Amino acid sequence: MKKAIKILLVIISIILIPIIGGISYFYVSFNNFSLEDNYHLNENNLAYFNETYDEARNDFRLKSDELTIEYPGIENFSLPVESNKDTNLTIDFCFIPGSENADKIMILSSGVHGAEGFAGSAVQLYFMDKYINSEFLDKTAILLIHGVNPFGFKYERRVTQNNVDLNRNSDIDNKLYQIKNEGYPKVYDLINPKGKVKTGSLANRFFFIKAIKGIVKESMPVLRQAVLQGQYEFSEGLYYGGNNFEPQIIDLVPIIDTICIPYQTVFAIDLHTAYGERGKLHLFPNPVEESVKKRMEDIFEGFHIDWGDSDDFYTYTGDFNSYIGKINNDKIFIPMLFEYGTMDSQSTIGSIKSLHVMILENQGEQYGYNSDEDLKKVKKDFMEMDYPSSLAWRSHIIDETKVIFDKSLKRFSELELR
Ligand SMILES: [Zn+2]
Repeated sequence: MKKAIKILLVIISIILIPIIGGISYFYVSFNNFSLEDNYHLNENNLAYFNETYDEARNDFRLKSDELTIEYPGIENFSLPVESNKDTNLTIDFCFIPGSENADKIMILSSGVHGAEGFAGSAVQLYFMDKYINSEFLDKTAILLIHGVNPFGFKYERRVTQNNVDLNRNSDIDNKLYQIKNEGYPKVYDLINPKGKVKTGSLANRFFFIKAIKGIVKESMPVLRQAVLQGQYEFSEGLYYGGNNFEPQIIDLVPIIDTICIPYQTVFAIDLHTAYGERGKLHLFPNPVEESVKKRMEDIFEGFHIDWGDSDDFYTYTGDFNSYIGKINNDKIFIPMLFEYGTMDSQSTIGSIKSLHVMILENQGEQYGYNSDEDLKKVKKDFMEMDYPSSLAWRSHIIDETKVIFDKSLKRFSELELR
């Protein structure tokens, strides 16, 4: 009998030890999540980064005005974006028409996801500083769009004041808002907890168990797709694309349309952060037709493009780039999305952590926080995800941008398209 108990205990230990070990490992990596940036720090790169929306916008306007001295045809202007919380929110534009021969236009946009606008704005300032010259302008016009979601930029949210994700809301046809995300109800409870946020609760500290259970049940690609695709049903939920056009999505149509009229080819780069390997610039477009894909591969030859239909990535509806394409549906349109990684979201723990940060931030907005400490912690984690305070990260993403801009902008400008 004693022997039987002993054997039983051995069997139980063999089963339990790996489980306990696994949980402990995940517990520690999840609750003490941090990533190091061992990049060379280039002080010059840091000049492009700002700490507030107002400073970033001011720098953009100053730089735009500065460019008018050298390029007299420039048009700089602002589009106010309505909000009952703030009367000083604008999208800012710098349009440089290019020479008489210019038959292409490059659009560079930032802040579609508000809080990601800090890095996007820095990349725009860097571009304005280094890449605008008469050789480029001989063939190509330039349109810079700063802070597409100024509310989220200023108040450090990804979404608009209406909790709408603009990269799920952008279209010229409101049929978009009837799309049903079939997978979303399956993940609803996991990603939309109710009640005040208490960061130290057991449910939060052990969130990874719930997430892993979901991954085992549905598989990672299915789960990722359900969560990230966008949804038009739950206005309090994550990745809500709205039930109608957000105000700027209506107002931008005639502006983009009119500016693009003289050009046959439109190349649009939309700037984002957070998804992907930390410090790395990912080329991460939504899937496109084969002919467009070929053009994108030509322009970005030598660089890896993460097509949204591969296992690690996902597709979504209502994205800003496709919307620019729809406005220009009579032209050759080449979109690209730059995604500067911050959380190693290609790893299991990184993707669970990013999701958890998003969940708590949205839960806090919807239901409030248990304490001031909870609010501070959630806001800090959220900004670290969208705009890392690490100077090495900031400096490095400019270096990453340089490598790609040096090659691809020239290729676009010289591309002969019919
Ligand atoms: Zn984004």
